[in-house]
Amino acid sequence: MNEIYFDADILAIRESVRQFRDKHVAPLVEDCDANERFPIELLEPLLEAGILRMPLPQEYGGMDANCQTLSVVIEEISVAMPALGSVLLSCFSPMRIVGAVAKPHQREAFHRLITSKPMVLAFCLSEPEVGSDARAMHTRAHRRGGGWVLNGRKRWISSATVSGCYLVFARTGAGREDISCFVVPGDAKGLSFGKPERKMGFRAQVLADVVFDEVEIADDCLIGNVGEGWRALTMVANTMRCWGAAAIATGLARAALDAATLYANQREAFGRKIGKFQGVSFKLADMAIALRQSQLLLRDTNWRVDNELPDVSARTQAQVSMAKCHAADAAMRVTTEAVQILGGCGYMREYQVERMMRDAKAIQIFDGSNEIQRVIIGKYLLDTS
Ligand SMILES: Cc1cc2nc3c(=O)[nH]c(=O)nc-3n(C[C@H](O)[C@H](O)[C@H](O)COP(=O)(O)OP(=O)(O)OC[C@H]3O[C@@H](n4cnc5c(N)ncnc54)[C@H](O)[C@@H]3O)c2cc1C
Repeated sequence: MNEIYFDADILAIRESVRQFRDKHVAPLVEDCDANERFPIELLEPLLEAGILRMPLPQEYGGMDANCQTLSVVIEEISVAMPALGSVLLSCFSPMRIVGAVAKPHQREAFHRLITSKPMVLAFCLSEPEVGSDARAMHTRAHRRGGGWVLNGRKRWISSATVSGCYLVFARTGAGREDISCFVVPGDAKGLSFGKPERKMGFRAQVLADVVFDEVEIADDCLIGNVGEGWRALTMVANTMRCWGAAAIATGLARAALDAATLYANQREAFGRKIGKFQGVSFKLADMAIALRQSQLLLRDTNWRVDNELPDVSARTQAQVSMAKCHAADAAMRVTTEAVQILGGCGYMREYQVERMMRDAKAIQIFDGSNEIQRVIIGKYLLDTS
């Protein structure tokens, strides 16, 4: 289908990512899910294909990719492996935050660090006692000598144990929004990890606590000014809910609809293909409607964000929340119906749709739960009425 929001460059990138996915990612999906294994062997191919560092400036091996482009890349990868889509999300969001708010010397130091070797990155916000209410965080940073010292514990961090660099939000004052943003190198002394979590889905992604015990970092590891972390998070990072989480959900829903349609065209019952029963074809139609709504909301929202940055309007921020919320709920519905259409086969691991249903659940929770997205949308409506 033609996509009016995509130019020739994005279409070319989409095609090359599809080829990459089918060649490198798809063959690993079952093994990584069954064995809860991070696909570390994809690191070099992702770098060589130009995917890993897409948001970086060209002089650092990137292509200054905008939100629409990142969204397309993550959607295509997530058709095969949503967990890898989330790995890319954790890499791209620190790159975008640094690109938007860091001072030149901070940006230089960050780029030197993350291009020193192939690596994935981690985004550290949640804590054991603090999830949705992120501003209540306990992790602290204080000045020592010419640098900073971090203490605290971040919870359920994607790519925790395999990252080369951590973007960390920490409290630097007593006020609720006295939050700053730091880059912590993976080899920093005092950095350690909790045990890898055993999860319902996203099993190819490593999730663990990241612990900071008197972690000393240089002054240029601060990103932006002291106390600017919350602004960076709300104005820049929250847009990742659209090009990131919503794109993962959309790729996943696409895969589930494809699997269900294929099965409905092959499986016979009562002397005909099950797709010929209206009860099944209506399910497929509703799944297709939900998917297309996600895609259109995603493309339009990314277009708006790309055109409004760096000052994304409250209206567009609300639309980012709509995109995340809708795409995640749609993925949950579509994958659940896919399991139903495949009947007993849908419940068996071999057919993949049970994995998709497990993966979909996570997207309603992470990157700001869907309830929090509804809180944001509701507040916007009431504030502007
Ligand atoms: C697979 C996965 C990957 C993750 N990766 C990362 C990562 O890389 N980095 C990171 O920092 N975090 C990560 N997280 C953590 C994730 O962001 C949090 O789980 C999420 O923000 C929700 O926080 P919580 O689990 O503490 O739930 P809570 O905040 O305790 O909420 C519990 C329930 O209450 C609801 N609720 C809370 N407040 C309200 C309200 N005001 N109105 C209505 N309902 C409300 C929530 O929606 C939820 O249903 C990940 C989580 C998962 C599952």
